[in-house]
Amino acid sequence: AKNSGRNSYRYYTEEMQAKSARILILENALRRALDQQQFVLNYQPQISTDTGKLVGAETLLRWHHPELGLISPAEFIPIAEDSGQIYQIGAWVLRTAIQQLKSWIEAGLPPMIIAVNLSAVQFRHTGLPDLVTSLLNEIDLPAQYLELELTESVAMDEPLEAIAIMDNLHNRGVRMSIDDFGTGYSSLNYLKKFKVYKLKIDQSFIRDINTDPEDKAIVTAIISMAHSLGFQTIAEGVETAEQLDFLRIQGCDEIQGYHYSKPLNTEQFSAFVRDWQPLKDK
Ligand code: C2E
Ligand code: CA
Ligand code: CA
Ligand code: CA
Repeated sequence: AKNSGRNSYRYYTEEMQAKSARILILENALRRALDQQQFVLNYQPQISTDTGKLVGAETLLRWHHPELGLISPAEFIPIAEDSGQIYQIGAWVLRTAIQQLKSWIEAGLPPMIIAVNLSAVQFRHTGLPDLVTSLLNEIDLPAQYLELELTESVAMDEPLEAIAIMDNLHNRGVRMSIDDFGTGYSSLNYLKKFKVYKLKIDQSFIRDINTDPEDKAIVTAIISMAHSLGFQTIAEGVETAEQLDFLRIQGCDEIQGYHYSKPLNTEQFSAFVRDWQPLKDK
């Protein structure tokens, strides 16, 4: 609407009023963020409940703006989705995560899974499967090391289309997981058709798990349903030993959260991996 002739001013002011000044500032600042290398990835360990081994890491995007400071992905990802900038940012995240795991393996770290978050727009983009395959080929990382996280609400919005995209990625050897599980009103009929590897139990159910009987019941039910359907489970936002104990007893397969580690930069993460003692019960 901005360039559409004599009504453009009216549309522009309406748009100005509709969007807060903050959103416009961030949308503009995002244009330079990639070129000026303002993005970095953090990595948060994922630990097997059974063996205590480190099995993977979730990639979490960080934007350090020189004047605006650290901006949360929860704030800027939706803006990047609306403006279309998410394609370039998402491709950068995928490339950087794949390259990082490759260089860790070359440096002698044990191979692990690297999990990357997909936004709704990125997931629905028809170029995604080819982009993923070509990055894996170019960087020479086997597809089985890459896991793509899709939120339950994105997967369940147009589920038949989502199933086709998941099948496509699955056929290319890439793993999928369903993020924020429990918040997105899953239809079990569709869920059973998802070619996903694991369900990530949303952290809102984990927070009060040792005191809230309803959260206990929900988490127990999710784990048992997931296993019946052939999915692994991971709990996120695990901050205490008490939460971990409950989840272990219920048979939750993996744990992610501050109890083990906050998201780490690359140096911190490789130090974490080298120091990690799976046999010691932490
Ligand atoms: P998410 O995928 O659900 O990520 C989990 C969030 O929980 C992360 O917040 C993480 O730092 C935080 N977290 C991890 N452990 C704990 C814990 O023990 N306690 C608490 N209270 N929080 C914990 P973060 O890094 O701020 O990311 C927020 C959201 O931004 C993510 O939610 C994800 O939806 C999105 N995001 C992050 N990176 C990317 C990305 O590269 N691409 C896309 N599309 N979205 C991303
Ligand atoms: Ca995630
Ligand atoms: Ca999540
Ligand atoms: Ca979330």
